Amino acid sequence: MRGSHIILLILQSSMKKVVFINEMVKAMKREHKAGHSIGFVPTMGALHDGHISLISESKKENDITVCSIFVNPIQFNNKQDLEKYPRNLDEDLKMLQSSGCDYVFIPETEEIYPNGNPDIKIDFGTLDKVLEGKFRPGHFKGVAIIVKRLFEIVTPDHAYFGKKDYQQLLIIRHLVSTFKLTVKIHACPIIREHDGLAMSSRNLRLTIGERQIASKIYEILCSVKEKAGHLPVKELQGWAVKKINSNPAFRVEYFEIVDKNDLHILKNWKEIENALACAAVFLGDVRLIDNMELFS
Ligand code: AMP
Repeated sequence: MRGSHIILLILQSSMKKVVFINEMVKAMKREHKAGHSIGFVPTMGALHDGHISLISESKKENDITVCSIFVNPIQFNNKQDLEKYPRNLDEDLKMLQSSGCDYVFIPETEEIYPNGNPDIKIDFGTLDKVLEGKFRPGHFKGVAIIVKRLFEIVTPDHAYFGKKDYQQLLIIRHLVSTFKLTVKIHACPIIREHDGLAMSSRNLRLTIGERQIASKIYEILCSVKEKAGHLPVKELQGWAVKKINSNPAFRVEYFEIVDKNDLHILKNWKEIENALACAAVFLGDVRLIDNMELFS
């Protein structure tokens, strides 16, 4: 270990690890009472630099940063996907400690959902019917329930979400406005690997061969950005699907060019400044999602 690393570890105060809800509530009350602003980053663990970028953003703007790690069973519409979801707690704790995170909240499912499957009364309009919502029924309801629950426990002033899950970001904003929550939502850029593949916990499940070709999705998103405005929207969308599917290892579930404000499918380029290309693609049995703003 290099000298600078040793000094860094000594200087960094120890991150507090909290398992129980009442402990978390007490700690957050103490922090608010001390006049500290609280920034919050909810995650499902198997952390990577994408998650850590959210922690860094929170640290810039808050006195205290809290990260939660909870693999939320009710947002998985596919049981196998839940079972295979990567879990890496020891590594996660090391990464969070060296990122300077102040608290990590790691609750048990039984404590979060003591009465089995909870419900929430919220109408997302078309927002949860398209893209991910169309292929993962119930997913966003599960996301809304856990995020609301975590907000009630952590009582953050600010919460940080990645644009990697762009639709989720809009769902959270809708949740906050529906329930008039006081937390401010921040959207953070997509962090990518050197070859452009969007960082994701699910990338850990790719074989070496699959990993080598996975950046193709990013390359095609870049080509779509270059071609945007030059080909009719529908033609460009069809071109992208065909191009990805031309490699038999890939299977496009959807590739759509939408308005980034409400996710309706664009018919033409009149509002090109709002255009967002969104993709969900199976590579083997791993489902990868990515997106790119086409005008920025
Ligand atoms: P997850 O653990 O997948 O639920 O993600 C937790 C948070 O990290 C969500 O707000 C994600 O959008 C965000 N996130 C995941 N991957 C990335 C990435 N590559 N770049 C930026 N944010 C990300």
